[in-house]
Amino acid sequence: MGAQVPLWLDMEDATYVDRTLDLYRRLLLRAGPRVGICLQAYLHRTPMDLEEVLAAAGRIRLVKGAYRASAAHALQDRAAVDGAFLVLPERLAREPLTEPGLRHVLGTHDLGLLERLGLGPAGNSPPESGPLSVQMLYGIQEDAWDALVRRDIPFRVLISYGAHWYPWFMRRLAERTSNLRFVLGRK
Ligand SMILES: Cc1cc2nc3c(=O)[nH]c(=O)nc-3n(C[C@H](O)[C@H](O)[C@H](O)COP(=O)(O)OP(=O)(O)OC[C@H]3O[C@@H](n4cnc5c(N)ncnc54)[C@H](O)[C@@H]3O)c2cc1C
Repeated sequence: MGAQVPLWLDMEDATYVDRTLDLYRRLLLRAGPRVGICLQAYLHRTPMDLEEVLAAAGRIRLVKGAYRASAAHALQDRAAVDGAFLVLPERLAREPLTEPGLRHVLGTHDLGLLERLGLGPAGNSPPESGPLSVQMLYGIQEDAWDALVRRDIPFRVLISYGAHWYPWFMRRLAERTSNLRFVLGRK
């Protein structure tokens, strides 16, 4: 793996978390924090997983979580998930990555939450992004992208490409059928 190429491991449903974290630990030892791991705020276990990854100097992309999960594994209430998503970034911000240019990531299209975290498009003040950056998926909340860049918020858009774009797309479609516009043609 080229040392300069960032690589993110996505997180699938709750049954995959242990093995994905095992793989991540091995990759982290070999490649350092240019390899990052997605953690899902809705899982009860995530605060502990987050501490473990931070202790190993890993890089985290925090998302709300896309898959259906039982109450045994995950918060069921939208407000509770949003609450978890508000708290965990503060922990990430206190643990910046030491490698220049690398930041932990908030993967969300929730502009309200981003505003509350000081990383939204509406703020006039200089951003307080510090060690955090923002990522969104291609085609979602596009109207906010320019404003995020104008505020100098470190921001990336993820686009699906390559041989496995189709299963990736089907998972996004399962999250929300409005994603159908990705293939049917956009506004
Ligand atoms: C960069 C990135 C990587 C991700 N990787 C993973 C992963 O590895 N594992 C995983 O479980 N989940 C992943 N997700 C998905 C994530 O868990 C959420 O399911 C998804 O981002 C929707 O939650 P939200 O934070 O955008 O907030 P929400 O409250 O769901 O959405 C906020 C607003 O954004 C808009 N919006 C959000 N999602 C969509 C959509 N799909 N289509 C159209 N409009 C939308 C709507 O206007 C909505 O009101 C990823 C998300 C991003 C941005």
